[in-house]
Amino acid sequence: MESEKPTPDNSILLYDSLSRQLQPLAPSDGKTFRMYCCGPTVYGPVHIGNFRTFVLQDVLCRTLEVSGLNVHHVRNITDVDDKTIRQSQREKQSLKKFTQKWTERFHRDCQDLNILTPYAEPRATDHIEHQIRLIQQLIDKDHAYSTPEGSVYFCVKSFSHYGRLSHLNHRELQTQKTNSAGERRDNDEYERDSIADFALWKACKPEDGENYWPSPWGPGRPGWHIECSAMALHYLGDTFDLHGGGVDLCFPHHENEIAQSECATGQQPFSRYWFHTAHLLVEGQKMSKSLGNLYTLDDLQAKGFPPASLRYALITGHYRQSLNFTISGLKAAQSARTRLDRLTTALMEHVYESNWTKDTFYELQHSPFDQNWGNFAPAWSALKNDLNTPECLGNLFSVFNQFKMTPEIFSETDLLAFARLTYALGIDPFIEPDQDNRAKDIPADIRQLAEERWQARQSKDWTLADSLRDAIQAKGWKVIDNKDGYDLELL
Ligand code: AMP
Ligand code: ZN
Repeated sequence: MESEKPTPDNSILLYDSLSRQLQPLAPSDGKTFRMYCCGPTVYGPVHIGNFRTFVLQDVLCRTLEVSGLNVHHVRNITDVDDKTIRQSQREKQSLKKFTQKWTERFHRDCQDLNILTPYAEPRATDHIEHQIRLIQQLIDKDHAYSTPEGSVYFCVKSFSHYGRLSHLNHRELQTQKTNSAGERRDNDEYERDSIADFALWKACKPEDGENYWPSPWGPGRPGWHIECSAMALHYLGDTFDLHGGGVDLCFPHHENEIAQSECATGQQPFSRYWFHTAHLLVEGQKMSKSLGNLYTLDDLQAKGFPPASLRYALITGHYRQSLNFTISGLKAAQSARTRLDRLTTALMEHVYESNWTKDTFYELQHSPFDQNWGNFAPAWSALKNDLNTPECLGNLFSVFNQFKMTPEIFSETDLLAFARLTYALGIDPFIEPDQDNRAKDIPADIRQLAEERWQARQSKDWTLADSLRDAIQAKGWKVIDNKDGYDLELL
């Protein structure tokens, strides 16, 4: 039995979908927090739903770092599966060239969204050897079997813990295990209600073209699930701290990862904690190509929204609840973000007067920090309590309201704490102005009036707020209120 280290006061609490409880995240080796997240399948641009998951995983990494931990985050690139092969063939490109193009695009989008580069980002095709070795271990231990045509399947019946993560109804699982024993599933993804032996190695078929590798069972390619097990075990060891992915991956992908890994290594658990992020919906609907609601970063930039605003929008909801993405919500996020940028400047000016540049702020984000959160303690507390990003953002604005009323109680300590919080959230308050056209185009006097009106509303001085609204309108602008602030539009 692994001995748990005492929980440091500053530890992050996170809902673990395996134990269904909030758990304090401490590294099992007491030094480095080791986490694995399933990365993108690179057959096209990554959509904003995928980015909700990647951004939240990024916030988790950053928050762990800010809490004082050293983090090793491994996120794979799935560059071989049914979809990548099919699409590369349609585009008449080699799988390598095709997936390289989309991997580069993914990297560019991550950079624009201020997502940290992971500690390692292995590609499935660079680890075929590791996958073959793992499959052989499973065959040797009677957890897998090969077929005459040269495929290998994992025998679900051989793992008594199967279904523990996805909490499939126990009786249903038992029935399915007896009824579907030996039934096999070849496709990489399948629906939640079906349990079947799944492919670890897929014998080469004519439609795979040149995309196969030699193996002890004949030419073929690995199944999707085995790649994550092989790479996680290789980079992080037999037991690591946390595994993440969107909620859709819980079954069968993560269930299968657990089965393969624990059967091969004989070690439990494969991952101590599981971090599942709920899905992003668009205008209330599941994202799908047929509905035409699969936004990419480029689509939103073409509509005038910088990636920084998308990042902000993606963290306005709690990761355990699905988030409904709308263009008006994105506008609201943009206005809240630009407000926060202005408040940052106000706090910098309060502490340093005019003796600072934006680099001063970036230095503060990384300078020694003794976890003194000062006036920003509630915002940090929200973040460390199950990564409550919406509450954290709400608290930031409340603290700034307090700052406007009693600036004298704010010092460099608060600024340091605030800088750390922006780092944890991945918000850059000094984003290049040309990425922020909307804010740039609003005349200074209109912005000033809108700020005064916002203050009046905060102090519940509705008469003053209404007269300021009229003044803004008289100058040809319309102020639109939203949850976190306001937006300004030309009449
Ligand atoms: P994929 O490239 O399809 O393997 O997905 C990459 C990551 O995005 C996985 O962790 C998925 O679970 C996650 N994901 C897929 N669709 C959504 C969505 N609509 N909202 C949030 N995460 C998603
Ligand atoms: Zn995976």
